[in-house]
Amino acid sequence: MKINIKKARQMITPSEEFSIIGNNFSLDKKEFPDILNVEKLTINGLIENKGFFIKVTGVIDISLNSACSRCLKETNINLNIPFTEEYHDIQSKEDLSKESNEEFKYYIGNEIDLEPLITELLVLELPLNQLCNENCLGLCYKCGQNLNKKDCGCNREQIDIRLLELEKFLK
Ligand SMILES: [Zn+2]
Ligand SMILES: [Zn+2]
Repeated sequence: MKINIKKARQMITPSEEFSIIGNNFSLDKKEFPDILNVEKLTINGLIENKGFFIKVTGVIDISLNSACSRCLKETNINLNIPFTEEYHDIQSKEDLSKESNEEFKYYIGNEIDLEPLITELLVLELPLNQLCNENCLGLCYKCGQNLNKKDCGCNREQIDIRLLELEKFLK
C-alpha cells in the first residue's frame, strides 16, 4: 500500500490527489487474530508538500470479515476511517534518533508506505467485541452448542466463587 510522492516532493503546492486499492491485502494474524480476511480496501486522499514534511490526508475504506466474538460466525465489518498524517524525510532508518517517539512518521525516497498507518488505525477503530448481532447468545461453554440455533439444555448457571466463600463463612 504505497503512494508515490515524487511529484509532490518537488513543489510546495498544489496538492495531489491519490487513490489506491489494496488487492489481496492481508492483516497481521498476531495483531488481528479474529480477522478472517479483508474483502475490500481503498484509500483516497491528498498529498501536500508542506516544506518540512509531506502531509497526507484521506479516508481508508475497508470491508473485512471477522469471527463473531461470541459464536465465531463470520461477520462483515465496514469501516470508514479518516486520517491526517505528517511524513518526514529521512535518508535511512538509521537516521531515526532513539529519542524520537513512535508517533514520528517518515519516508525514504519517493514512496510512502501506508501499511503501518492502516494497522495503527485499525487497532484503534475495530470494535473490541465484534458480534454477528447484538443479541448473539454465543456458544455453550460446556458443550460448544451454538445457542442461536438451539438450546442444548446444559445447566449454565454461573457460580460465583466469591459468593460460595461468603456462604461458607456465614454458616
Ligand atoms: Zn454471534
Ligand atoms: Zn451445552
